[in-house]
Amino acid sequence: MARKRVLIAGGGIGGLAAALACTRQGLSVQLLERAAQFSEVGAGIQLGPNVTRILQAWGLGDALAQVAAFPGQLQTRDAKTGQVLGTLRLGERAKALYGGPYATVHRADLHGLLHQAALAAGADLQLGQSVQGWRETAQGLDVHTAEGDSLQAHALIGADGVWSAVRQQMLADEPARFTGHLAYRALVAQADLPAHLRTDQVTVWMGPRLHVVHYPVCSGQWLNLVAIVHGRKPEQAQSWDQAGHVQALLQAMGGDSGAIGKDLQERLAAVPAWRLWALHDRAPIAAAGQMAQGCVALLGDAAHPMRPYLAQGAGMAIEDAQVLAQCLVQEGQPVAAQLQAYAAQRWARNARVQARAIRNGQIFHAQGAVAVGRDWSMRLLGERLMDVPWLYGWSR
Ligand SMILES: Cc1cc2nc3c(=O)[nH]c(=O)nc-3n(C[C@H](O)[C@H](O)[C@H](O)COP(=O)(O)OP(=O)(O)OC[C@H]3O[C@@H](n4cnc5c(N)ncnc54)[C@H](O)[C@@H]3O)c2cc1C
Repeated sequence: MARKRVLIAGGGIGGLAAALACTRQGLSVQLLERAAQFSEVGAGIQLGPNVTRILQAWGLGDALAQVAAFPGQLQTRDAKTGQVLGTLRLGERAKALYGGPYATVHRADLHGLLHQAALAAGADLQLGQSVQGWRETAQGLDVHTAEGDSLQAHALIGADGVWSAVRQQMLADEPARFTGHLAYRALVAQADLPAHLRTDQVTVWMGPRLHVVHYPVCSGQWLNLVAIVHGRKPEQAQSWDQAGHVQALLQAMGGDSGAIGKDLQERLAAVPAWRLWALHDRAPIAAAGQMAQGCVALLGDAAHPMRPYLAQGAGMAIEDAQVLAQCLVQEGQPVAAQLQAYAAQRWARNARVQARAIRNGQIFHAQGAVAVGRDWSMRLLGERLMDVPWLYGWSR
C-alpha cells in the first residue's frame, strides 16, 4: 500500500462528503455502500452558511445554486394563533455576515452533487458492499465485508449512519435511543398549492409538544414539510421511511383540542401523502475517544446522531469530512495520530450542536408559562435570539 488508502463505510451525505474531501487532498479512497444504489430519501435539508461555505470551497457552489432555494428569511409562528413570533433574516444578511448563503435543498440533489463530484475527483465508489468489521495488521487494517471480501486500508472511516456497524466494533456501546418524537415528512409541488400557501421562506410553527417546519426546495418549485410530534416507537423503528397517516398526525397534534389553528391546519391538509420517521439520537459526545480509536474513526450520524431541531446533522457530517481530510494529510504523523487530531477538533463542536438540538426541541415544544416566556423573548429579541453566530461562523 504505497499511497495512503482510506476506506469509507457508507455512501450517505457524510460518506460521500468524506470521499470527496479526501480525494481532493490526493488520498486514495474506496467507499463501500451496502445498498444496491446510491440514493437519498425524498425530503429536504437545510444547509447553514457554515456548510455552504465548505461546498463552495469544494467547487460545488454553482451546482448547488442550480438546484437549491435560498430563503430570504426564517420566521417562527404560533401553531395555534398563526401569529409571527420572530424573524431571522437569511439571504444577503447570511452571506454578508457568514460568507455563505443559507440554502434549502432536496436531499437527492445534494447527494447527487457529492456523488458526481467524488466520482470526478477519482474516488472508487462501490455498491452492494456491507462493512462488517476489521482487524489490525502490521500494514494497517484488514476490513471485511458481509459479502466475503477482505480489503486493506490505512484508515477506516465509519460513515455508516445511526446503526453503524463500525461504531459497534469500535465502541460496543448501547444502540441509539428513541427520542419519543416522530417526524412526518412530505414534499408538495408549490404549483399544486393555492397561491396563499406558496412560500419561499423557512417557517417554524411552534405548539405544545409539536412543531412544524416548511421550506422550499428544488429551486423553489417544491415545498418540504416536516411535522414533529411526540409518540410511541412504531414497529420497524430502524426504518427511515414508512407511510404516515394524516389522521394519526392530527391526533398526535391534539385532535380537536385546538392546539393548532386554521392557518397551520390548512397547510397540513394540503399535503397528499406523509412519510413517517422515528427519531433516534445519542447523548452528546463526551470525549475524543468516542470519535476515533487507532486507525478507525467515525463521521456523521455514526458518531453523533442528533435531533433535527438545529437542522445541522448533515452539516456536521460535512464539517467532519473537511477536517478529516485536512488531518489525514498532516505530514510526519502516523494515521492513528492524524485521526486523533481529527477527533480532538470535532468532538466538542459536535457535542455542542447535539446539546443545542435537544434544547431547541424543548423550546419549540414548550407549554404553559415556558411557552409564554419563549414567545415574549422572541417578540422582544427576534434576530438576536434566533441567530446562531457560533454555529454559522465556524471555520477551519
Ligand atoms: C426529519 C429530519 C430532518 C433533518 N433535517 C436536517 C437538516 O435540515 N439539515 C441537516 O444538516 N441535517 C438534517 N437532518 C440530519 C441528516 O439527515 C443526517 O444527519 C445525515 O443524513 C446523516 O448522514 P450520514 O451520511 O452520516 O448517515 P446516513 O445518511 O444514514 O448514511 C449512512 C449510509 O451508510 C450505509 N450503510 C449502513 N451500514 C453500512 C455498512 N455496514 N456498510 C456499508 N454501508 C453501510 C447506508 O445504507 C447509508 O447509505 C435531518 C434528519 C431528520 C431525520
